[in-house]
Amino acid sequence: MIDNYGINIWGDNNFIIKNSTVNINHKSQPSLLEITKEIRNQGYKGPLLLRFPHLIKKQISTLYEEFNRAKKEFGYRGSFQAVFPLKVNQLANFVSALINVSKEFNYGLEAGSKAELLIAITHTPMGAPITVNGFKDKEMISLCFIAANMGHNITITIEGLGELETIIAVNREFNAKKKIAVIPKIGVRIRLHSSGIGVWAKSGGYSSKFGLSSTELLEAYDLIKKHHLLKQLWMIHFHIGSQMSEIAPLKKALREAGNIYADLKNRGATALNAINIGGGLAVEYSQQEENKEVNYSLKEFSNDVVFVMKEISKNKGIEEPDIFTESGRFIASSHAVLIAPVLELFSQDYHEKSLRLKEVNPPLITELNELWISLNRANAREYLHDALDHMESLLTLFDLGYIDLEDRSNTEILVNLIIKKSILLLENDASSELKKLQNKIQERYLLNFSIFQSLPDFWGLEQNFPMMPIDKLNIKASNPATIWDITCDSDGEIAFNDNAPLYLHDVDVTKDEYFLAFFLTGAYQEVLGMKHNLFTHPTEVLIEFDDKGHYQIENLIESQNIMDVLDEMNYDKITLDKKLKDMIKKSNLVNQEEKNNLQTRLDFYLSENSYLKTIQANK
Ligand SMILES: *Cc1c(COP(=O)(O)O)cnc(C)c1O
Repeated sequence: MIDNYGINIWGDNNFIIKNSTVNINHKSQPSLLEITKEIRNQGYKGPLLLRFPHLIKKQISTLYEEFNRAKKEFGYRGSFQAVFPLKVNQLANFVSALINVSKEFNYGLEAGSKAELLIAITHTPMGAPITVNGFKDKEMISLCFIAANMGHNITITIEGLGELETIIAVNREFNAKKKIAVIPKIGVRIRLHSSGIGVWAKSGGYSSKFGLSSTELLEAYDLIKKHHLLKQLWMIHFHIGSQMSEIAPLKKALREAGNIYADLKNRGATALNAINIGGGLAVEYSQQEENKEVNYSLKEFSNDVVFVMKEISKNKGIEEPDIFTESGRFIASSHAVLIAPVLELFSQDYHEKSLRLKEVNPPLITELNELWISLNRANAREYLHDALDHMESLLTLFDLGYIDLEDRSNTEILVNLIIKKSILLLENDASSELKKLQNKIQERYLLNFSIFQSLPDFWGLEQNFPMMPIDKLNIKASNPATIWDITCDSDGEIAFNDNAPLYLHDVDVTKDEYFLAFFLTGAYQEVLGMKHNLFTHPTEVLIEFDDKGHYQIENLIESQNIMDVLDEMNYDKITLDKKLKDMIKKSNLVNQEEKNNLQTRLDFYLSENSYLKTIQANK
């Protein structure tokens, strides 16, 4: 069977395999290959990040649709609203696209730092919600007051009592002499004893970095009341962690938060009207059924949230609150696809054409050669064992000085060819022995990208990102593959994994371009990505669709050039440039014409980015 790389598991119908390529399942259904080629033909080499705004829109509208459906189903009276947490992706091309596709939803932004707050203030449509989380100083709280005075619908979520005291002080500064006070809304983040599960679960629980304990909450309530700010207190907030693989912890947290909400409301916080359940909605990254990461659907998630809040409201005799979410990963991950060109394969030496068989070979090598030629389905297992046996003997003979380097090389090649052929012949037999052998014959694919820059969560947390070739999908791929990036760091590798195997095609990249796509890279990766070895953010584009359904390449931002990267590392670009010019000028190895040539070449190289163009001399 030809591999579909689990596209039915992680793809959410966003992509389809058509003939031999991966195509976008939207409008004219262009292939990733034609888009990639069109951009590369304009001279942009190296990795490419393709952004698809229609996929951002799909996620936002699905979120609202599901919650509105659940509300209707349970007769829930509170409204549903959502904000996008900027820490998940702050890049301008993404945020502008997000705002552009979400106009009809009154969708807002969540900020966790001053810089993010500035993005929120300048990009959120007036009236749509802005929420501000994270640790805040007086300046940040003042920025919230400025935004409120502009007319923004802004909520400061207090994470500790100190912040509340600062709000009270800033309020005095802004409003002491005013007839009508303009004050941001206030939310409180509560510290729950429920916590999420998995690697990102640290945001919840008693020991979490954020939120007020019950005791602090009561103190905060008294303080708010004392300073006549109760009419501002309108939201309860919690966030139990990202990528919740199961729904049970959320339900538990929601019961806890819902009861805190009801208690405050009944205590006299009459303006309280919203419960913000944070983010955490998970994304399915797995390429294999058996490795699935998420055990619930958005339908189940929305049903549970609405149902639990309805139940608590009824039991406690309060109005049903508005429900807010701050899902980030769910909204952003699918919109970005990273395309990385394969530069080279690193085991071509195990090719038949590299054999150097002699007139007279050591008998065991002659035998290996015969095993390879006569290998068939019936004898494969037996011959494979013989071959591995012979290999051990031959390597010992080499160590003892009885055979030479050519014999040793022939041994390696023949055994690799035998393993490869056996795996193909025995493909329906998934014995653990065969699985282990795949490790011996992996092919290393060198890709023109940096894992540190583009998939930092793979480096830091071994988060899998779906990956597959974007072409040749009509041909069976049989090379167990390990991915190498072009950094000089041995961690820049996605090793072949028996439990989540990746097979790629045998290609000759000197004749035929071969690209790998990494999917679901739109959340967290871009800003967490680091400039290890000074490889920078890849060249990026927005792929929009026009009225006729054809795709358009827009907002292209080229990967930073070498001089700008150095400038960012605090080298003075002008000084460096002058130094280089001087060194050419003062060289006594070349004449003036040659100097001019050197300078022209150098200028050209410095205007380019750090990624490789190609490593074949003939290209
Ligand atoms: C990170 C964060 C989110 C987003 O979480 P996702 O798992 O990406 O949905 C939401 N709210 C808060 C407070 C956060 O810190």
